[in-house]
Amino acid sequence: LDLREEDLVIGEPMGEGSGGTVVKAIHRPTQTPMAMKFIRADYSIRQQILKELQILHECNSPYIVSFYGAYPKDNGVQVCMEFMDQRSFDRIYRKTGPIPVPVLGCVTFSVLQGLKYLYEDLRVMHRDIKPSNILLNSYGFIKLCDFGISKEMVNSIANTFVGTASYMSPERMNGGSYTVKSDIWSFGLTLMELALGRYPLKGEGESMSIFEMLSYITNETLPQLDDEVFPKGLCDLVAKCLIKDPAKRPALKDLLNHPYTRECATANVNIEQWAKFIELPEF
Ligand code: ADP
Ligand code: MG
Repeated sequence: LDLREEDLVIGEPMGEGSGGTVVKAIHRPTQTPMAMKFIRADYSIRQQILKELQILHECNSPYIVSFYGAYPKDNGVQVCMEFMDQRSFDRIYRKTGPIPVPVLGCVTFSVLQGLKYLYEDLRVMHRDIKPSNILLNSYGFIKLCDFGISKEMVNSIANTFVGTASYMSPERMNGGSYTVKSDIWSFGLTLMELALGRYPLKGEGESMSIFEMLSYITNETLPQLDDEVFPKGLCDLVAKCLIKDPAKRPALKDLLNHPYTRECATANVNIEQWAKFIELPEF
């Protein structure tokens, strides 16, 4: 796909996040709906970002949002990607309440497969796993977006970052370097959030500064999923992801081999049906 700015018809805005603004667009020649994300970046690093994004053209996984192209625009870079019509899981649970258990299984399986692809094929860490970066479409596909493919883009976003430290692992908060184990932490917290239908670490709407988070994570016992309400396997998997010591926290391959993940891989869930009728309260 040869993407030209003049072929894009800009539509409605879909949300504003830490990184920039996302708007819907239609690529007129092919009638392809797209999600366009604008990322502020200094002139000096724009070409580098665009170069680093090129490898996404070879990215091909049902668990990763497709990349259509990127070009420089105003004071940043415009990134065009696959439009996921049922949007992100944060919006979904805010609309429907806690995500049904069978769907949590699909999320677990899809996110772990997505991470496997990122680690093994693209050789990048995700760095920003959270409910708003897990997307759903009405075919029932669950895909990851906004991963750290471009070093310069990660830096540029980090420099303008004004959000909370909500999904940051303890070792990262303590100034340690980001590792694949930090992705696992964020994944565990995300799964718990989707299961409960609220951010698990503090009261609704309260955001924590990095210092509050640091002291909370270091001193408090973290909440766990209640195994009288949720499948034991899911509770165990989440608890393991939230082990504070990264050396004791499981690696991706351990999670792929976890009994709950194996169960999810073969479970017969009609996620397409759920995804199509997501505005309905019943599963
Ligand atoms: P954040 O992920 O921090 O919420 P973003 O700027 O990445 O901020 O995204 C803003 C919102 O746009 C997301 O919450 C999500 O609901 C929506 N969004 C992002 N990418 C897509 C996409 N490819 N398809 C559909 N919706 C998207
Ligand atoms: Mg995002």
